[in-house]
Formats: sequence, C-alpha cells, structure tokens
Amino acid sequence: MAIEEKIEITESEWEIMRVVWTLEKATSKDIIQVLQDKKDWKPATAKTFIGRLVKKGMLNTEPKGNKYIYSAAFSEEDSVKSVTDRLFDQICSKEVGKTIADMIAGATLSHKDIELLQTVLDKKKDEAVDEVACNCMPGQCKCRDNHNMN
Ligand SMILES: [Zn+2]
Repeated sequence: MAIEEKIEITESEWEIMRVVWTLEKATSKDIIQVLQDKKDWKPATAKTFIGRLVKKGMLNTEPKGNKYIYSAAFSEEDSVKSVTDRLFDQICSKEVGKTIADMIAGATLSHKDIELLQTVLDKKKDEAVDEVACNCMPGQCKCRDNHNMN
C-alpha cells in the first residue's frame, strides 16, 4: 500500500509505531509496557499519542471487548522511505549525493551492508548524469550565487 501523503509524525509517535510494527497487533497496554523503561510516560500520555496516530491514519483500530487493538496502516519500510524521500525534498538536489555520503560515513555498517551499497552504486553508474540540476526556488540555495560567480 502506497503512502499518499507525506508522513508527519513526531519522535514520540515514531517510538509507538516501532512497537506496533514489531508486535503487529497491540493494545495500548502492550505499547505502554514495551516503552515503560525508555519513556517515562503516564498511560494517558501514551494514549494521547496513540490517538494522534489513529487520527493521522498511521494506526488502524479494531474494537475487541472493552479495548482496542491497534495495527499499522503502513509498513515500516514504506514509512521509513517516506521520511527519507521527504528529507531529500527539503534539500537542493545538488546536495543529495553529498548528504547520502555523509549518512554513509556516519553509519555503522556490516560487510553485507557495504556489498549492498556497492551493488546499488554500480547500477547507478549506468544512469549517472554529468551534473545534477538544482531544483530550488531562487533564494533558497546558493546554486544561483555560484552561477553568477562563474
Ligand atoms: Zn539548489
């Protein structure tokens, strides 16, 4: 299932989503139990975050007896992808390559991860362009200044 709108969730809401992705189906009690050591939330606080996630369409609810069972409306993979796509939408397209390089430089990677990255990069070589075009509004990045200097 594709994510139609960009995901806009807070760090606290993301913590809850990770629990639901892991458990697949969870009650608010399950969620609070998993996060109790990490977050010093009162049950009412956790329930507020859960309610917001339902409102945002990130969690499905299913009544069961006197409680609700929550499940994720989108997969973890799709949600993470939506967040990284959004990051790249927020920077100059000329800066994307360097940003990815910085992310890789700062990450702890296994030999297998590096092999995967090398495979992806080898494929990207076939579709590489000479120069990435700037996609910014004039005044929102320095590309234009640089052009003036050339
Ligand atoms: Zn730009």
